[in-house]
Amino acid sequence: MTRIFKIEPFHRELISKASLLNFLSFLDANDVELPALLMDTERLRKKANAIGKNIRNSRVFYAVKANAAPGVIELLDHMGLSFEIASDGELEPLARVGVAADRIITSNPVKTFKFLRRAAEYGIKYYAYDSKDEVDKIAAIVPDAKVYVRLSVPNEGSEWPLSKKFGVEIDDGISLISYAAQKGLDPVGITFHVGSQCTNLYNWDNALYKAKVLWDMAAQKGINMRVLNIGGGYPVKYTKNVVDIEEIEKNIDGLIRELFPSGIDVFIEPGRGVVGDAGVYACQVIGKSKRGDENWLHIDVGVFNGLMESIGGIKYCYITEDAGGSKKNWTIAGPSCDGFDVIDRNVMLQEPEIGSVVLILSCGAYTISYASEFNGFAIPKTLMI
Ligand SMILES: *Cc1c(COP(=O)(O)O)cnc(C)c1O
Repeated sequence: MTRIFKIEPFHRELISKASLLNFLSFLDANDVELPALLMDTERLRKKANAIGKNIRNSRVFYAVKANAAPGVIELLDHMGLSFEIASDGELEPLARVGVAADRIITSNPVKTFKFLRRAAEYGIKYYAYDSKDEVDKIAAIVPDAKVYVRLSVPNEGSEWPLSKKFGVEIDDGISLISYAAQKGLDPVGITFHVGSQCTNLYNWDNALYKAKVLWDMAAQKGINMRVLNIGGGYPVKYTKNVVDIEEIEKNIDGLIRELFPSGIDVFIEPGRGVVGDAGVYACQVIGKSKRGDENWLHIDVGVFNGLMESIGGIKYCYITEDAGGSKKNWTIAGPSCDGFDVIDRNVMLQEPEIGSVVLILSCGAYTISYASEFNGFAIPKTLMI
């Protein structure tokens, strides 16, 4: 069945023609059960290839929490990427395809005992910490661990800040590094996270300057570190243009050359930047109504079964089937009976028909991985196309 979608000029800035055609022809050719998350493998491969290219001595560890679909893991594994995980649940899909322990790191600063035991047994060597208690836990369970301290850095300009939960200031950082060494661990380096969907180039500058101060303090104590783990944060386009990953990386690379000893290992942990714009939701209009002067559009994916980030402020772009008619302002809601299940407000769209398909762009990251079956609505299947 051929569907005609209403493609607007601004859509072209958010998704390439090739990628859009790929999604549309897949929907035409297959009887896809809706809702579904379609992942464009070509786009994914391109992103995974490009990331890290402009930072010398770098290694890319894909942050599995962004999208843990087996198809995504298998593809990235075949491409030779490494992985960042936070839990035994995230280790399982890697173990299933036999990813070696030296291609896995764990940067969650507070880990469960069960995960630490499982990671130790698997042979994982790199761990983050930001407290004495965590050093004690790691020293007891993984005595030969290499550890990096999580530094707190500004998250301004990131649409999904992560920093308030984790990280220490420089003074605490230096005592923790000494403490880790005392406990027999190998304090190899420093990590930070500028915040997810970071659209502010200067966040990385601020973070690197701060890390440099701590790095030098450790060196003065005779602890020569070797790993600078710059975390994730690379942005993707949702409804507006964002700074290019290439530009971000060239800026980071220049600063690392300027501030840090040559030859150190740089770890990058992108999640969203790898998978975010490779995924499109294909979902269905299940209802329309007018309440007061608001036009409500109900679709079969919502806050609970796959669009959780909408409540944190991520605004998505929607493409509807072309049904003619004029545009209206819509409040878009998910399928559950919960009042929180509102994805967006003030979205200008041509009025779609009940049962028609809606495409939601840039849904590859933090969608399915956040989804629950609340209210009995199934988590959409992920299809690699
Ligand atoms: C979530 C997370 C990432 C990935 O962040 P993105 O913004 O998706 O790139 C990387 N490292 C750590 C420690 C994280 O918690």
